[in-house]
This record gives sequence, C-alpha cells and structure tokens, in this order.
Amino acid sequence: MTNRIYLDNAATTCLAEPVREAMMPWLTAQYGNPSSIHGTGREAQKAIHLARCKAAEAIGAEPREIFFTSGGSESDNWALKGYAFAHRTEGNHIITSSVEHHAVLHTCRWLEKQGFRVTYLPTDAEGRVDPDTVEKAITDQTILISIMAANNEIGTMEPVSQIGETAGKHGIAFHTDAVQAIGAMPLNVKKLHADMLSLSAHKFHGPKGTGLLYIRSGTVLQPLIHGGAQERGMRAGTENTAGIVGLGEAIALCTKDMEEKNRRIACLRDELTEGLLRRIPDSCLNGPRRDRLPGNCHLSFRGIEGEALLLRLDLAGIAASGGSACTSGSPEPSHVMRAIGADDERTKGSVRFTLSDETKKEELDEVLRILPPLVEEMRRLRT
Ligand SMILES: *Cc1c(COP(=O)(O)O)cnc(C)c1O
Repeated sequence: MTNRIYLDNAATTCLAEPVREAMMPWLTAQYGNPSSIHGTGREAQKAIHLARCKAAEAIGAEPREIFFTSGGSESDNWALKGYAFAHRTEGNHIITSSVEHHAVLHTCRWLEKQGFRVTYLPTDAEGRVDPDTVEKAITDQTILISIMAANNEIGTMEPVSQIGETAGKHGIAFHTDAVQAIGAMPLNVKKLHADMLSLSAHKFHGPKGTGLLYIRSGTVLQPLIHGGAQERGMRAGTENTAGIVGLGEAIALCTKDMEEKNRRIACLRDELTEGLLRRIPDSCLNGPRRDRLPGNCHLSFRGIEGEALLLRLDLAGIAASGGSACTSGSPEPSHVMRAIGADDERTKGSVRFTLSDETKKEELDEVLRILPPLVEEMRRLRT
C-alpha cells in the first residue's frame, strides 16, 4: 500500500529520478569489483572516485577525507568508537547532547560500558544546546565532542559552528551528525570546525544503505570494519558502487539551488504549521520557530494519542510520523521530548510532518482539511 501524501521525509526520502538513472548501469552491466585490475573494475573505481569528489565538494572537504559507509548509523558508530579507541590513552571523556539520534546515544552508552565517561548535555525548551554549557563540561580528560547539526525529531538546528570552534580551541575533536542537515543548511566542514561529519544518502533522495563519514586529514581513527584494503584501509568490504554513485548524484542535487528550494519548503511548512495551530485548539509547536529545519513541522495536540492519530492519517492516505521512525513501535517515550521538558500529554500527542522538495501545496491543503476534524473526533470519543 502506498500513501498518496508522503510527509515523513525525516525518516526517509524517495529516490530522485536522476539518482536512479545514475545508479542503473552499476546495478546491471557494470558490475565489476572496483578493486579488480580489469577494465570493468577500473570503471567502477573511477565512478566511485567521481562520487567522492562530488561529496567532498558539497561539504568543502578534500576527496581523500571522504569515507563511504553503509549509512548514518555506521558513520556515527565509527566516528565515536573509532576516535575513542584511537585516543583512549589521552583521556576517557566524551561530551554529547541528550537529543542526539540513537546511533550516537546508544553508541555512547556502549562506550560507557567500555570504560569511557560520557556527559549528556541538556538543552533548552526548544532543543538547543548552549555552546557555553559545552565549554563548561570540558575536563582535562575530554577527547571528543559530538553534537548533531540538526535534530531529526523536532527540527532544531544546533549552533554547531560555535561548538566546533570551542572544541578546536581546547584541542578536542568535534564530530557532528549532519544526517538531517545536508541540503537544509549550508554545511562546510571548515566553517563548522568539524573533524568528523556523518551523512546518510537516503535522507537526501539517495539510496538506502549508503552514507559517508568525513574524517579531517590528520584525524586518527581506528577502523570499525576490518578486512580488505578498501577506503584506504579504513573501511573494509567491497564497495557498494551503485549506492556510492547514487550518493554522489544525490548530494550534488540536494545542495544545488539550496536557498531557493528551502525558502519554498519553509513557506509551505509555515502554512501547514500555522494552519493546524489555528484550526486545532490546545495544540502547540515543538522546537524553535527560527533556526529550524525548513521541512519540519512537529506539533502536539492535547488529549489524544499521537500513535492513534497516525493510524487514522494513514487510513486517509497520509504518511506522517510520531517523532522518530526508529523509535515507533517501542513503548519508550521520545528522549527528545523529555529533554525539552514536555509533559506526558504533550509527548503522547505529538505528530511530525516532514516535507521535501517534492511536497505540493495541495497535499498540505488536504492535511489541513482532514486533520482538524480527526483530532476533534478523537477528543470527543475520549470524554
Ligand atoms: C536517519 C538518521 C540516522 C541514521 O541513518 P541511517 O542511514 O538510517 O542509518 C542518524 N542520525 C540522524 C540524525 C538521522 O536522522
């Protein structure tokens, strides 16, 4: 079953048509192993190099600083574990925030079991990490700071360039999970003072199962996956040629005419947000109004179960989400909502709509038409 209206682009995005076209040869006739000496292998190698150049250009890096992975989760795991274990003789303290993606949070929990100490910084009521609290948390044992560029649930853009600058000033490595940020805001690893940065292709109209970790030249990491000499000996395994080519195409596309595209998306997003808040009493916006991902609308409706509302929306052909795709189905309430101090009712009644470049005004008009009476009915049934 497919939904007519897809508003869950923070969970994943559709594969852009030019990306699919760029990938096709590498899924069919051009199947050579990029490590092989023969012509078909060398062609695959060349295609991967081209994708690496495109990825590097999109974030202001050098091609040799780009390492392809299986996605955002692997990149986050690698950055944290790889850096922590390579530098454990220099210190055992890591600083992160309480609103990170589970790929960072659960990795940190695991690192704690391995003897590292982790500080999970609080945020303000809009999910923002204060750069001053980062600086105050630094000790002489701190080796790594990892703060996301933008939050996947409530859309908060974090002051990462300030945090990166602070890290650099203290000689501490800085990693940022920029999975939600690429294409939504300018990302330049030098301006961010980032030593490591994670991306995932399926979040920007590329294929699933492909991502990258930027590792600044001179930054020392342990590999996470041992084996062959792929990715300059840093990440073993035969390359996902089609996926990598797709990532290269998608990253070039999503960073092209970014400002204009995002202005349009934010405009649509504001219409949806304001329209819903106006039509539905006892509703509120979660996350900030400014410095917010252009496609993110995260609302709470008091007195309803968000999950139940999502099912009804689904029946009406609208795909939305309860904050994070990775936590739905689990009874745990959102750690992000908890971090911003939301009470139970606000947390339970939250729904996330995330737009993309493909979202049309008519689709949002339909949500504005369908959702308010749904919420009203659900509230009526409850009392
Ligand atoms: C989706 C997401 C991830 C995980 O990426 P995968 O490619 O799905 O493993 C990590 N961090 C953030 C912020 C995300 O939104």
